[in-house]
Parts: sequence; structure tokens; C-alpha cells
Amino acid sequence: MGIKHEVTSFPAMTEEPKYVVEIFAVEKPDRLPSEYTEQLKGVIGPRKIAALKKEAVMCPLTNSQVPFLVCFQCPSFMRRIKGTVHCSGKEPPKWPPRPSRSDT
Ligand code: SF4
Repeated sequence: MGIKHEVTSFPAMTEEPKYVVEIFAVEKPDRLPSEYTEQLKGVIGPRKIAALKKEAVMCPLTNSQVPFLVCFQCPSFMRRIKGTVHCSGKEPPKWPPRPSRSDT
């Protein structure tokens, strides 16, 4: 059964995206720090969160693959429409996460 997630943000609807980025499924999703899923609990159901974890985008700002849930919480995220992310291109995501241990 396919699950569709259409997330819209009305105040941003009038703003034109700088990029329209395709969302794709990944076989081996990157491990996400819990901060990315904790904030969604209670807002999105666990099955939807699990499905969203398996999606990613090729971020035009970092030129690398970024998990959708990271993209979703990125300052540049505007909205998700029909399998794409509308991105303002203003700020890159905080990805990949910094190692928890300091090198210094
Ligand atoms: S800059 Fe942010 S919102 Fe835009 S594609 Fe990259 S991760 Fe997604």
C-alpha cells in the first residue's frame, strides 16, 4: 500500500522556490540522529515516520544525498508537493551530523 505524504505550508505557498528537488526512495537509509524523529512524534504517526525515513533528496546546496526528514527540518524547506521538495535555497541543511566526540 502506497503512502502519500503531502505536507504544505500555506504562508510559504506564495513564495517561489529556488529549487524543485525530487524525492526518491533509498534502500539503505542513513541513520538519523533521534532529534530528527523526536520532534515529529505526536505530529506524524510512527508508520509514516518509518516510511519517510526511507526517502531522500539530492540537495542542490550540499550536492549530496540528504534524508528527507533532515530536508523537511531544514531552514530552506518550503513545502512538499507531488514527490518534490520546494526549496528556497537560502540555507543548507545541518547534514551530515557532526561526530559527537570532539577531536580536540
Ligand atoms: S537546502 Fe534544505 S530544503 Fe533545500 S533540498 Fe537541501 S536539505 Fe532540502
